[in-house]
Amino acid sequence: MSALVLRTVAETTAWVDSLRRSGRRLALVPTMGYLHEGHQSLIREGRRRADVVAASIFVNPTQFGPNEDLSRYPRDFEGDLAKCTSAGAEAVFAPAPEEMYPPGFQTHVEVGKVSQGLCGARRPGHFQGVATVVTKLLGLFKPQVALFGEKDYQQLQVIRALVRDLNLGVEIVGMPTVREPDGLALSSRNAYLSTEERRRALALSRGMAAAQALYERGTRDTASLVDAARRELAAVDLREDYVEVVDATSLTSLSSVTPGQPARILVAAFAGKTRLIDNQPIGG
Ligand code: AMP
Repeated sequence: MSALVLRTVAETTAWVDSLRRSGRRLALVPTMGYLHEGHQSLIREGRRRADVVAASIFVNPTQFGPNEDLSRYPRDFEGDLAKCTSAGAEAVFAPAPEEMYPPGFQTHVEVGKVSQGLCGARRPGHFQGVATVVTKLLGLFKPQVALFGEKDYQQLQVIRALVRDLNLGVEIVGMPTVREPDGLALSSRNAYLSTEERRRALALSRGMAAAQALYERGTRDTASLVDAARRELAAVDLREDYVEVVDATSLTSLSSVTPGQPARILVAAFAGKTRLIDNQPIGG
């Protein structure tokens, strides 16, 4: 049987209330749709951690900048519904933008430091949009657990800060990035890539692997590690947005990688018009 489709806040509130009365544990998986195996891995893990999983499919306009891809973001609601159902979601919340942002809407959630560098610096307003919509979804569903991918690593840290700072009382689970066999991180935006861009896009994962290989040969200073990743991007003419090595929790820049201090390399680059991001742990 197909997952139940919830379109409005009122319907969702009624569904959540009945679930709570029955004492069942709820997991929430927020998405923007055009689902792939990465999203499905979150839903499956939700099933392991809760009795019931709800997924949301909402291309959130407030997290897109004026010159970004909101209007052409890929959509396939029927396909998404089938994928949610097969991964084990019981309900899919797919509201219209006016349902989430009705006239008179005037509250925004701004997370501090952790949202300011990296994608936050390149996409002004992006994390305010993310934090606001995630706060709304958590308020609406009141899940015991919510699952997010490490693919969007800064987003995951922003949400962890938000939930902690506002005492939202939900467990946040970060899940590993699901990749194609050749290393490309799955992303809805991969649908934009031409065959040739798809091949060049591999430089993101290859660049991070090169940085890690250099670390394993004894290099500790982040400038050299970042350079190793940059060379892979440059070799295939990918335009870098940023390459940084940061503390894995605070996301502050590191000048060197110290064994025992978890660090992460984060990369953003353009393949043609398509902006891709990826990240992985670095060090050991
Ligand atoms: P999106 O639909 O791109 O907003 O992503 C919805 C959720 O799926 C976010 O928590 C993402 O981090 C997660 N996600 C996206 N791509 C992947 C992936 N390749 N592996 C694991 N999780 C992912």
